[in-house]
Amino acid sequence: MTKASVCTIGDEILIGQILDTNSYRISSALNEAGIRVNRMVSIGDDGEAIINSLRNELKTNDIVISTGGLGPTKDDITKAALATLSGSKGYVENAVQLEIIHRILYSRGLDVLDVNRAQALVPDTCEVIPNHLGTAPIMVFRFDKDVFGHPATLYALPGVPYEALGAVPAVIDDIKAHFPVDDICHRSIMVYGMAESALSKLIEPWEDSLPKDIHLAYLPNQLTGVRLRLSVYGGDRESEERRISAELDRLSAILGDNIYSYTDDNLQNAIGRLLKGTGKTLSAAESCTGGRIASLITSVPGASGYFLGSVTSYAVSVKENVLGVNPDTIREKGVVSQEVAAEMAEGVRRLTGSTYSVSTTGLAGPQGDGVNRVGTVCIGVSGPTGTKTFTRNYQNDRERNIERFSATALDFLRRFIESELSC
Ligand code: ATP
Ligand code: MG
Repeated sequence: MTKASVCTIGDEILIGQILDTNSYRISSALNEAGIRVNRMVSIGDDGEAIINSLRNELKTNDIVISTGGLGPTKDDITKAALATLSGSKGYVENAVQLEIIHRILYSRGLDVLDVNRAQALVPDTCEVIPNHLGTAPIMVFRFDKDVFGHPATLYALPGVPYEALGAVPAVIDDIKAHFPVDDICHRSIMVYGMAESALSKLIEPWEDSLPKDIHLAYLPNQLTGVRLRLSVYGGDRESEERRISAELDRLSAILGDNIYSYTDDNLQNAIGRLLKGTGKTLSAAESCTGGRIASLITSVPGASGYFLGSVTSYAVSVKENVLGVNPDTIREKGVVSQEVAAEMAEGVRRLTGSTYSVSTTGLAGPQGDGVNRVGTVCIGVSGPTGTKTFTRNYQNDRERNIERFSATALDFLRRFIESELSC
């Protein structure tokens, strides 16, 4: 099987100034295409370190993909290192990339300086994949079998994540044209509302009964829950898809409505699918989530067809004066209570005239209120058949709590709408 290594270059990665998002996003795209990533390496902006590390990766991998250090500034030294590594005798100008550089700078109202023009120069040992999203060309170095003991190719991509990711489809096409790559068949299902440990225990018998060539991966995420992905490498695509579907049918019978989608998805999309075209509408009243739920809901294209709006009722005065929460309820039950969550959900429904609503009141932390544990959230949902509430406790930092609260509220809402629509 063709093996790849992803190498990110830049001091800012090693000193923790930026989060290396290129590695995981490139690896994920390669995996989806059936190319196994063997290693990830991060290297500082040091010529010798770049040459040694890349050489090392080329010895043990068929493909090496690097990102970073191709820009016009002095700290960008990847190109010179690659010239040395590949035994280049000089640089040549790439006409296609030069034209792109002119076009990009012209559209920004900038002059083309010598440093910009120099970006179109590449070592005479490489091929170029034009980079239409930026000024630095994507360089492809092909090494014969006698250099590293096997044919190996190095792809040098720019560091800017949008450009690096933009180059990946062309890189994958090139890999497929030069290396044997098995077809891969993936299917994902999305699960929310179960801890990973409880989920894995529940599906253990099913997992143990899977045919050896069907691989299961757990991919947990704060906002979307657990993605369970089944993959098969090789084989005929149609028949593999049928086999995977049959396994997913068996899983579906075990997990029931804990599954909210049969593709790689998120909760706000699932809610959108339930409401789009039904004429039914939605609103939100958010305290501790501060608008995150509304932001997630409106990230779905077409949300204007069902989402009416939200009230960020952070202060007690807004809960009382805008949403109409009874002051006695707050005094008797406390502001973080299921009773207040219920009145918030009912209040915003009244205010907006929506069919459904969702509300949150809780403590994201780090300071407590002396009554509730930090990480407590009370969630309310309301609709034509009534109002439901529940309480959860998460023990994360503020940001993670807010994400969990929002995702949990969306899942509670999704289940509520599903049950209402099936009545
Ligand atoms: P440029 O032409 O912009 O200089 P470059 O190829 O030289 O591109 P870098 O200078 O290394 O790339 O990085 C450009 C930008 O991309 C920087 O803002 C950097 O923080 C970001 N970046 C670089 N590498 C990564 C990475 N692995 N993950 C996420 N962001 C990255
Ligand atoms: Mg740079």
